[in-house]
Parts: sequence; C-alpha cells; structure tokens
Amino acid sequence: MNAEHFHYFDHNATTPVAPEVVAAMLPLFSEWWGNPSSAYRFAHEISRRVDLAREQVATLLGAEPGEIVFTSCGTESNNTALHSALQTHPDRRHIVTTAVEHSANLKCCEALQRRGYEVTFLPVSAAGTLDLAGLERAIRPDTAIVSVMLANNETGVIFPVAEVAAICRRRGVLCHTDAVQAPGKMPLGVRALGVDFLSLSAHKLNAPKGIGLLYVRRKTRFQPYLVGGHQERGRRGGTENVPYIVGFGRAAELAMSRLEEENTRVRALRDRLENTVLATIPSAFRNGAAQPRLPNTTNLGFAGIESEAALMLLDQLGICASAGSACTTGSLEPSHVLAAMGIEAARARSSLRFSLGVENTTEDVDYLLQHLPVVIAKLRALSPTV
Ligand SMILES: *Cc1c(COP(=O)(O)O)cnc(C)c1O
Repeated sequence: MNAEHFHYFDHNATTPVAPEVVAAMLPLFSEWWGNPSSAYRFAHEISRRVDLAREQVATLLGAEPGEIVFTSCGTESNNTALHSALQTHPDRRHIVTTAVEHSANLKCCEALQRRGYEVTFLPVSAAGTLDLAGLERAIRPDTAIVSVMLANNETGVIFPVAEVAAICRRRGVLCHTDAVQAPGKMPLGVRALGVDFLSLSAHKLNAPKGIGLLYVRRKTRFQPYLVGGHQERGRRGGTENVPYIVGFGRAAELAMSRLEEENTRVRALRDRLENTVLATIPSAFRNGAAQPRLPNTTNLGFAGIESEAALMLLDQLGICASAGSACTTGSLEPSHVLAAMGIEAARARSSLRFSLGVENTTEDVDYLLQHLPVVIAKLRALSPTV
C-alpha cells in the first residue's frame, strides 16, 4: 500500500512532518551529532542550533527564549505544569480543570486525585463552551493551579483562556493552558493570554512525534518533573533531543508563515465539507459551537449509525478520520468530551471528527463528500432504528 492512497482528515491526531522540517533535522543526525552540553567547539555548534530553535519557538509564542523548556511531548508538558504548581505550593492541594481536557491532562488529574489531591472538573455547555463565572466560583484558597485547554482537540471549540488567566491573576492562582491544538491555526501570544504555563507538542505542527515544550513565564516558581542533569537550565534533566528540537524550531517558523493560509484556505475547505454534509445528509448534526472554533476541525454526527462501523468503511476507501481522540479510539466508550456536553450516548457514538491540515486539497474534500453520504446511507439501511 502506498501513502498517496490515503485521504487524511485526522490532523488533530497527528500531522505529517513537513519536508522543510526533515531537511532542517538531517544534519543533526549525520554531521552535527554532538552533545550540546560538552565544552569543545564541535558541541558549541550543536548548542548554537538548539539556541536558534529555542528562539524560533519563543517567537511563535511571543515569549523569551529563556521561558521555553523543551520536553518529550505535550503529555509531559501538561504533567510538568501541574506537578510544578503542586510542588511549589505544598499547602495547596486543589486543582481546577475542565471535563473536556485531553487525556494528557485528565488522566494526570485523576492520578493526582488518587494521591489525595482534590480536582474540580468544570462542566461545559451543550455547545462545549466554558462558563467563566463557574470557573471563578470553583477557585478556592487552597487552589494551586487552574488548567484549561486553549482549543479542544475533538470539537475545535476555543476557550477564553485570556479571561481565565485574568481571573487567576486576580485570585493569586497559577494558570496553565494546554495549547497543543492551537499553533498554526490561530494567533498565539503568551503575553496576550497572560498564562503562567503553556504546553505545545511538535507533532500537531508538522514536526516529529516525541518533542514538545512547556512555556514557563519568567519568575514563575518552578520544580522540574524529570530530575537529572542541568539541561534546560535545570528545569528538565536529560540530554536534549537535538534533531527534534531543531525540527520543532523550523516547524514553528513554518506555522507562523502559514497561519494566514490555514485561516483562509483550510477554513474554506472545512466549511465546505461541513456545510455540504449538513445540507445534504439527512439527520446530520454538528457537535460544538460554530464559533469561536479552530478553522480545521468539524465534529459531525449522523443519527442512527455507529461511528466505529463508519470509520471502517471510510478506511476501506482510504479515508482517515476518527471518532474523537486517537488516544481513546478502540474503546467503545462514547467520547468524554461529547458526554460532558450532555450529548446522549447514541448520538455521541454516531459522531465523527474530521480535522484538516495544510496538505489537504479540494480533491480530498470532494472525494470525502462523494463517499460519505454513501457510507452513511449504507449503515442506516442496516440499522432498523432510523
Ligand atoms: C495531542 C494532544 C496532546 C498530547 O500531546 P503528545 O505530544 O501526543 O503527548 C495533549 N493535548 C492536546 C489537546 C492534544 O491534542
């Protein structure tokens, strides 16, 4: 089988590595393979490249290079932020988060609960939006950190993180945001957001899997999660993953230069896909608010079908989509995000997520629009309930 035979609509799960990113990484495997911490000039060449990548990702975020800690993934970044807040505030044992976070945050919070910490999982509206008054009420004197994602990976719904951070500042509580889905899809500035911590992952950004970062606002008290060498100024032990860091830097540059395109061309493709499906497939519905929303994501339900069966038929046609998060696919549990929105289980289990990316073409969308109605009709003919 050949990769060109796939029509890929699952960019919120992962993205292809851009050729420019591969090209930027290769010399770090072949020629410049040294340890950036060593003292000779050969190593200085390597550390210079890490510094450049740090500047590139800092520029993407409107941050200072010294505020960037490279990690192994978005999951590690989220775990690190929560861990640090609890370690630096041992008298505070409460966390506020939302019921619709990625499992990289939810499961970490659940593990902390089992270790005796208290967690408030804020509810969302039927459209997947967050109530700021409810968030403010949930903050207690012993709240160590509020962690609210910037854009939801399943619905694309964008949370008002700047307002959340303003509340946190007023109440003297640290604020973290999982912004993994945001870069390249919406403007992203840590000063405007006003958060203390922000997580990114490179593989959602046309760079490799296994590299991420945590923005730590200057002067924020910090405790490392991985304790070891003095790398990352003592904030994350472990020899730097130099090629991937360099790739991440290049991808950050590309994401900034492509933001305009993702916001116009990809949004137009997504809107055509969504509008056509809603107008032509009977009993189709969208999950989540239309706005504010990521320009690449649509979450669509088709009353009377099972998403797992639809995904199998689509897969046979070379169409890659998902039923919510890749991290929960395979379980027949309805998505925790759709459940938190109060969508009944059968409707949630009839839902599919399509997430587009920079390499999607009009032909991809045409192909999907040609086959999806047939797939849905076929499944409905098998099911007596509609
Ligand atoms: C993919 C994703 C993560 C996890 O990132 P990894 O690098 O795969 O650990 C975290 N949060 C969100 C919102 C994501 O979409």
